[in-house]
Amino acid sequence: MPIKFVPMICPQCGSQMDVPVDKDMCFCAACGTKILINDDSIKTININQRVTDDARIAEAQAKAKVAQGRQNTILKAIVIVAVFVLDIIIFMVVLSSR
Ligand SMILES: [Zn+2]
Repeated sequence: MPIKFVPMICPQCGSQMDVPVDKDMCFCAACGTKILINDDSIKTININQRVTDDARIAEAQAKAKVAQGRQNTILKAIVIVAVFVLDIIIFMVVLSSR
């Protein structure tokens, strides 16, 4: 059974390519753009996201997570120190009032 191809222009980089109609998704060979194909019509072909961007987004999210973790650790340290200092102040006040 021969596979039917639909000629199309990559919306991202403009290179011409043939897309197999039996697939609902393909990648541009020139720029790696992920293209969703909703049906046989070229009109419904649209970009979802660039593959390279997917990797960058994942990387950025991982970095943000690490930064968030650091921030939480610093916050916890500040709270512990603040409670400790408060304890000392209360202790001093109690001592001096005697
Ligand atoms: Zn392309």
